[in-house]
Amino acid sequence: MTDSLARALDIAREYAARRTHGPVWPTATLQALRAALGGPLPHDPIDPAEVIVALAQAAGPGIVATTGPRYFGFVTGGALPAAVAADWLTAVWDQPASLYVLSPAASVVEEVAGGWLLDLLGLPQAASVGFVTGCHMANFTALAAARHEMLRRAGWDVEDDGLTGAPALRVLVGNEVHVSVLGALRLLGIGSREVVRVAADSQGRMRPDALDVAMGDGPTIVCAQAGNVNTGAFDPLDDIAAITRRRGAWLHVDGAFGLWASASAALRHHTRGVDRADSWATDAHKWLNVPYDSGLVFVANPAAHRAAMSLSAEYLIRTPNEPREPMDWTPEASRRARGFAVYAALRSLGRRGVEDLLDRCCRLARRFADRLRADSGIEILNDVVLNQVLVRAKPASGDADAATRAALARVQAERICWLGGTRWHGMDAMRISVSNWSTTDEDVDRSAESIIRATSFVS
Ligand SMILES: *Cc1c(COP(=O)(O)O)cnc(C)c1O
Repeated sequence: MTDSLARALDIAREYAARRTHGPVWPTATLQALRAALGGPLPHDPIDPAEVIVALAQAAGPGIVATTGPRYFGFVTGGALPAAVAADWLTAVWDQPASLYVLSPAASVVEEVAGGWLLDLLGLPQAASVGFVTGCHMANFTALAAARHEMLRRAGWDVEDDGLTGAPALRVLVGNEVHVSVLGALRLLGIGSREVVRVAADSQGRMRPDALDVAMGDGPTIVCAQAGNVNTGAFDPLDDIAAITRRRGAWLHVDGAFGLWASASAALRHHTRGVDRADSWATDAHKWLNVPYDSGLVFVANPAAHRAAMSLSAEYLIRTPNEPREPMDWTPEASRRARGFAVYAALRSLGRRGVEDLLDRCCRLARRFADRLRADSGIEILNDVVLNQVLVRAKPASGDADAATRAALARVQAERICWLGGTRWHGMDAMRISVSNWSTTDEDVDRSAESIIRATSFVS
């Protein structure tokens, strides 16, 4: 045990030192990885330290430097040193975070970190918090609470009686809703074709006037978005909340990364009115730079949250002096005590550190956009209001979609940085997300040069 941990520490240190200069995306082929990692299950035990060394050797060529400073794919975040170390301890302690009796420390850490998060994100202090695997499960959990509460108000007990014969539940989403919300609804028995899509504007923001028109009668859930996965744009939450409140609907906010804007004085205007929603979903593994997996769900009405998740079917909130039972707030029963890493991340950054991280990423996204925009062969498609930049080749002649795809392939092959592609409003684009604590100006400049080089080659 001690020996395998010591070997893991050596390997981890070496990796952390290398990820800032090595290729961001690995060179191993699928076939090579299968060969290196494959083979039959050994019959006899192997020494743990030996297993760890062999694993690192075989897996190494297939590891993507997602925690490195020039990984801009998806919205991935990084891994803060304190959070990684806390995550290791989480594995060593191996606490099932389901009941207080299984781990008093895991329960109290969730309670404390939960309070800090509500404060930091400007959410109602009485809201309940769940530590889930990611924003997808956070959306699922929040929407389960919404389904419970909206049907309860209509006189229906969905936990006991299911959906057959239940009053119709109307669900409205913005036209640029993240697929995760639709996936979460599907798990809750609400098919994607049942969902009403509300028109969005040029940046992908839900239009409140269109929402107002689309609102109907009966139990209704509205899913808004803080942080469009392409543009970073925010739905106008204040206007949307005014509508949902007037109509007695439940407002859920998918804010996987955008919800963090509330923790920055410079960005807070984007989430104005967010505290008037009923539930919120976000990630710690994206912008807070906690290791995967770590998502967070908040519900303004703890009774609804608990009713939807609790396996004890006790619909009463316990007294404040009773300990927190972690499993009352998540779909899982036994699970990893992921509150420790969130706690360590928040404590190591402090309020100011979180704000600096957010502001720095946004400043670097603007720097990226400025560098790229200065090149005549490139255009930036979105208003860079947050950490997301949409880049498109603008060839003097010919097909801009094809040129964009070809340029992206060259950038990915050069491996100085990594970013993914997207289709946005009928156009191919390269999508940059700056969400890593360790990214510097220099990283952005080197990466922008790689993109410019690639684009000039294909145009
Ligand atoms: C990433 C993301 C999700 C899904 O989150 P996971 O962490 O992958 O579970 C949902 N909504 C938005 C807007 C996202 O960016």
